[in-house]
This record gives sequence, structure tokens and C-alpha cells, in this order.
Amino acid sequence: MDSELKEEICRVMKELYERGLVSALGGNVSARLPSAKEFWITPSGVHKGRLTPSSLLKLDTDLRVLEGSGKPSIESMAHARIYRVRPDVNAIVHAHNPITVGLAMAGVSIKPLVEGSVIGSVEVVPFAPPGSRELAESVEEKAKKANALILQRHGVITLGANLTEAEALAESLEDASKSMLVYALMKLKGAWRPSAPS
Ligand SMILES: [Zn+2]
Repeated sequence: MDSELKEEICRVMKELYERGLVSALGGNVSARLPSAKEFWITPSGVHKGRLTPSSLLKLDTDLRVLEGSGKPSIESMAHARIYRVRPDVNAIVHAHNPITVGLAMAGVSIKPLVEGSVIGSVEVVPFAPPGSRELAESVEEKAKKANALILQRHGVITLGANLTEAEALAESLEDASKSMLVYALMKLKGAWRPSAPS
């Protein structure tokens, strides 16, 4: 049902905000009912920790607003293009994972830490200005190959069959990045080393 989906989008956005993966005005989330062409997306310019279902907009993949008012997310074009080429995808999360982005800027490839991780393959999208057609086009190409995309100097886009999958993937990227960062720091020459546990 649309109403449940809208509640879930707001919940996911709030959780991403509380985890520090999006800022007050950053990031966006969308979702559609299985087999639907249209999707619900978060608005632009509204605090991401305090969204309500009535603030969401329903768009078709030509970006026409079918329901809701206000301004849809600036990354709506990227979301629409993903839904067009990935009929199996019903939810998309765009977050600004600080550590994932930092590692990607340093040229580190983010990898799953354990077998069976939800991360799977990861594609890196070259930098293009947020909200641009150029970015949406690159995202579409990379989304044909992976559910986890890292946008250089910007953030991540994660795809799922439902919102839980897309949210878990964005969180897992940041968790794996944190572990890789700690590992890299510990490997630095002369780094502080804890004494062996007794
Ligand atoms: Zn962004």
C-alpha cells in the first residue's frame, strides 16, 4: 500500500539521519510498489530527520509529479533512470556516508569484509555535479552492474528489492569503510598499538 510505503520512506530517512549518513538537507530516498512504474521520493529543502508522509512526492519515470506538492529531490532524475533500467529494484537510498566517501577519494576500493555480506559488487561513479544530467547518466550505466554505487566526492547510492535492502546496503558500506579505516590506521608505521589481550 502506498501509505505504508510512504511511512517506511520517512522512517528510513530518519534512521540515516540519526546514523550520520545524511545531514539535515542532504540525501534522498525513494521507493515504489513492486511492478509499479511510479515511485515516491523525498522532497528537496525539508529537514531529513523530520519528514512526514505528506511531504513526499509521487513521480513517474519522466519526472512528472503525480501526487504531492513542493520540490522533489534534486537527484530524482538518477532515481527515475535506475527504475527504468532495473525492474527488480523497488527502493533507492542516496546517502553521504562520510567514511566511504573519504576512502573512495583516497582510491581505496570498498570491499565486503565477510563472505555473504550484503555489499556484493561495488561500482564507482566519477564526479559530476549533484543533480546534473551527467551524474544521472553515469549512475544509470553503473546501476546496470551493481547495487552499491559510490559517487566520487559525494556519497553513495544503494539499490534494493525493498527499502530494508537498500538501507542495509548503505549502512554496510559505511561499516565496512570504518573497519578498513581502523585497519589502515593500525598498519601505519609507528602507529599506537594496543598491548595484546591477556
Ligand atoms: Zn547527494
